[in-house]
Amino acid sequence: MIVAMQEKATEDQIDAVIDALVESGVNVHRTTGSTQTILAAVGPTAGLDLRKFELLSGVLYVHRITAPYKLAGRAFRPEGTVVEFPNGATIGGKQVAVIAGPCAIENREQIFTIAKCVKAAGAGFLRGGAFKPRSSPYAFQGLGIPGLQLMHEAAQEYGLLTVTEVMEISQIEAMLPFTDCFQVGARNMQNFNLLRELGQIRRPVLLKRGIAATIEELLLSSEYILAGGNYDVILCERGIRTYETSTRNTMDIAAIPVIHKLSHLPIVGDPSHGTGRRDMVPAMAKAAVAAGADAILVEIHPNADKAASDAAQTLYLDQFEQLMGELRVIAAAVGRTL
Ligand code: PEP
Ligand code: MN
Repeated sequence: MIVAMQEKATEDQIDAVIDALVESGVNVHRTTGSTQTILAAVGPTAGLDLRKFELLSGVLYVHRITAPYKLAGRAFRPEGTVVEFPNGATIGGKQVAVIAGPCAIENREQIFTIAKCVKAAGAGFLRGGAFKPRSSPYAFQGLGIPGLQLMHEAAQEYGLLTVTEVMEISQIEAMLPFTDCFQVGARNMQNFNLLRELGQIRRPVLLKRGIAATIEELLLSSEYILAGGNYDVILCERGIRTYETSTRNTMDIAAIPVIHKLSHLPIVGDPSHGTGRRDMVPAMAKAAVAAGADAILVEIHPNADKAASDAAQTLYLDQFEQLMGELRVIAAAVGRTL
């Protein structure tokens, strides 16, 4: 961490800053040039609140030079993380994975029809929510464990892996037999108790970026899971809230290369929540693969416009099949398979 003092900072002010840094447990290296003093703080700075030092008198600015996350940082595993599933499928390798399914599991016929299509299109992961975080308490909240059992059966039938959202700690145990990958939704990205608990299990976790979260906050949230010893974490860009109203969220495609640079964790692009509009999902799915996404997550449904949740952003099955063909071309163009 670097503390730059103002040009007119007095010796007393500089000493007070040095004392505050030392009290925080770091070593301080002082450099005084012809106009300005720079203090380099070396040591355990990860947990320090920079504002504490910014507000001391005589300080011009404070900069971090090491990331506040350690296990999520690229340096921890420069070669990148490949999350492996028991059937041999991977997320983070050369092959771009595809996670597709309804927003919510609705009934047996729906999830079996979708599973068949997901398999036929060449995707490996079946998604579906059984516990739904809905903005309105009056909206469909999901079928719970019985729904998850249906999705698990469908996945078994077609040789697929299941991805589903966990909303709270108490659900984990009951979900384990039916869940190959736990999704943490945008609204729970900073539910630190839930993240800690998911660090204790040995099952992959797909962590979605919060609605108004910075990339650094997403990486710090992943650190909670990694710190528990669960290294199978997959990040997901699903759009953030901005002032733009043409789309449901603003899909931050740039987050994909940024995260690849900062972290070794795989990153998924979710153009369904990223746009909120069926007509824009294919374009943003292709953009995400072109930008280096390790997987794509899309919502699909045989009667998309009648889906119990997120209907407007859900693709019809034939649209999904067409998209898979297009994604293969994009993947090949960027040196990946699909
Ligand atoms: C979902 O995947 O259906 C979902 C609720 O996602 P998010 O948490 O990104 O809104
Ligand atoms: Mn959804």
